[in-house]
Amino acid sequence: MKYANVIVDISIDKLDKTFQYRIPEELEEKIAVGVQVDIPFGRRTVTGYVTELTDQPEIDVTKIRPLNGVHEGSVAITAQLVALAGWIQKNYGSTMNQALKTVIPVRRKIRQTEHKRVRLLLSEEQAAGKLALFEEKKHTAKARLLRELIAGHEIDYTLLTGKLNIAPATIRGMEQQKILLVETTRNYRNPVAHFEKKDYDRILNENQKRVVSAVVSDMEEGKHLTYLLKGVTGSGKTEVYMELIAHVLKQGRQAVVLIPEIALTYQTVMRFYNRFGDRVSILNSRLSQGERFDQFARARAGDIDIMIGPRSALFTPFPDLGLIIIDEEHETSYKSETVPRYHARETAIERAAMNHASVVLGSATPSVDSYYQASLGNYRLLELNERVDNKPLPDCEVVDLREELRMGNCSILSGRLQELVQDRLEKKQQTMLFLNRRGVSGFISCRSCGYVVQCPHCDVSLSLHQSQRMVCHYCGYEQPQPAVCPSCKSRYLGAFKAGTEKIEMHVKKIFPKARIIRMDADTTRTKDSYEKILQAFANQEADILIGTQMIVKGHDFPNVTLVGVLAADMSLHVADYHANERTFALLTQAIGRAGRGSKPGYAVIQTYDPEHFAIQTAKAQDYESFYKKEIAYRSMLYYPPVWNLLVVHCSFGNQDTLEAAAGLLAERIKCTIAEQGQRVHLVGPADAAVSKINDIYHKVIYMKTESYDTLVELKDGLLAYIKSDNKEKNIFSDITIQFDFNPVSGF
Ligand code: ADP
Ligand code: ZN
Ligand code: ZN
Repeated sequence: MKYANVIVDISIDKLDKTFQYRIPEELEEKIAVGVQVDIPFGRRTVTGYVTELTDQPEIDVTKIRPLNGVHEGSVAITAQLVALAGWIQKNYGSTMNQALKTVIPVRRKIRQTEHKRVRLLLSEEQAAGKLALFEEKKHTAKARLLRELIAGHEIDYTLLTGKLNIAPATIRGMEQQKILLVETTRNYRNPVAHFEKKDYDRILNENQKRVVSAVVSDMEEGKHLTYLLKGVTGSGKTEVYMELIAHVLKQGRQAVVLIPEIALTYQTVMRFYNRFGDRVSILNSRLSQGERFDQFARARAGDIDIMIGPRSALFTPFPDLGLIIIDEEHETSYKSETVPRYHARETAIERAAMNHASVVLGSATPSVDSYYQASLGNYRLLELNERVDNKPLPDCEVVDLREELRMGNCSILSGRLQELVQDRLEKKQQTMLFLNRRGVSGFISCRSCGYVVQCPHCDVSLSLHQSQRMVCHYCGYEQPQPAVCPSCKSRYLGAFKAGTEKIEMHVKKIFPKARIIRMDADTTRTKDSYEKILQAFANQEADILIGTQMIVKGHDFPNVTLVGVLAADMSLHVADYHANERTFALLTQAIGRAGRGSKPGYAVIQTYDPEHFAIQTAKAQDYESFYKKEIAYRSMLYYPPVWNLLVVHCSFGNQDTLEAAAGLLAERIKCTIAEQGQRVHLVGPADAAVSKINDIYHKVIYMKTESYDTLVELKDGLLAYIKSDNKEKNIFSDITIQFDFNPVSGF
């Protein structure tokens, strides 16, 4: 091959095309697809990625300049990842630069930084003594760190402060007490060197064995499929994952495990470390660019075999990836919220196909999308229907809040729930109260004239916080709560829907002696607060945990025997066709939190809509019945997964210009549909659900059709139209246009 097509590594859309360079003969061996190269560009030298090798000159051969060479210190990404970027660009709509940046998070070589390591200074005996003392005094963070040091001897500082959530102050304190030493080294080493892996002797039960052997025998026959593992919480899915990973490792291949960031808790991470020792590495959003780069470099170099992390761990450049596991596969966080809006599930399946790898999707409440794919035979369904210890799932009752009101109870807690909480307090057992909301209240409105206090920059109402300030959750705008209605001067301004803060105050009033902790977006802003709250609750430092959806994930609390869902239907009333699915999954998970220990669990669902099928099927923990109803509803309305949906978002500061541009796009789509006779439902342009954010206007166009590829063609047609030379072309130059295929929320 004589020429290399190179994408210039600058994120300016105008440069989002490839440029051709001649490959000097002496470099022929080194240049391949995916290699990062230095190239002359104008008068400068820049770097870029080779996306294609060819013998065909695209321009006059005399004008093709030679490339300078392989970029020094580049982590040459594999041709596969570049191809994956190409697939992402095509199927989700973005520039090639944006897609490349997604699969190659760090492109520059980061200066080698110092590595700090923490070493235990005490003898085993002394350490055990200290540990007992810390445990007695309930110094949980210190005890945790010490336990780790006793087990692992020497641990990377950033692993402790980042992934294991131990505060630097805790480490400093223990250093002053001469319990440990913080050493600085310059060489790069494993973050968990000397982490002894314990002998692993867990024997899988019959159900688990059946699942493992189904996947393994396919692998041995050279079949690499996508599996949907539907297993109730506590059915031993994680053990199955680890067994499959062990199998893949034996073949000399590597594995990626995707876990939503919020479920990537200390407990989960340690299970993998305990089994696989220092062959495991973790990615999370707290890692710096340099650390991320290091992790990926180690994966390439063969220092590790298993990468655990959220969405982006999917792009770990393993030399021979054999297995991708996606735990909690129904989670919406697997879809990117920024361009390219790729879905990790589909992208994982594509990456696996490129490398003959298998994919295992696991969930107690599979997404309707995945279950539909399984019903079509595209994924192979595997099930674990019993908990490992045969513990029954909690009993559950539904309380009708309308009935409560009729009986004169306008409290947030129904009479029944109050009674049960009281009972648990007496028995010294714990309760979790779950609210699917954030902030003190939805909005403040005038009871005389109906005026709603709104953000002046966004098309949403402001939320009242405890400090009597009103906050916009979209742009952060704040103002004091008005004393009188700005419209009619009435003094009857009130907040209606209660949030977690309000519930906390209310529950305190009913149970003044109870120890209560609250967990929501406001109490978990700082780095370790999330883990700290969970840890405190696990240590039984509180009787009641009140929180938003965050509390239903991750941790096991053996002493929780009661779960209350305060207003189950709140998530049913959002304008999104996923509302039923979200509600069902949240309720099922919330219910599953009760009775994880030796005592049986109980759940109460409070709702204004007790007959709703999502609530009834969640109460019965009956996924199949839920799915049957839901898929019938989606089929009727041609929603995904039955059909596919593309949303075109247009945004701009000037409303008239935006309207004109969105109108042109919609016209264009109409023409294409008419010309090609495709069966496409087109809606819009319409105002987006939130039509103004931060003084920027938002419009959307929806297209629904059976085949995904048709939507990809429509997208490509629009892009060509926007770029083409036409009179109106200039109108698009400043407008932001983004594509969202099968959006997971907020459509
Ligand atoms: P899931 O991921 O489905 O929620 P886990 O793999 O976390 O389930 O298993 C639930 C609990 O049961 C864990 O504490 C785990 O250690 C334990 N467990 C799983 N499989 C076995 C087994 N075969 N024998 C004994 N305990 C097991
Ligand atoms: Zn008013
Ligand atoms: Zn705002």
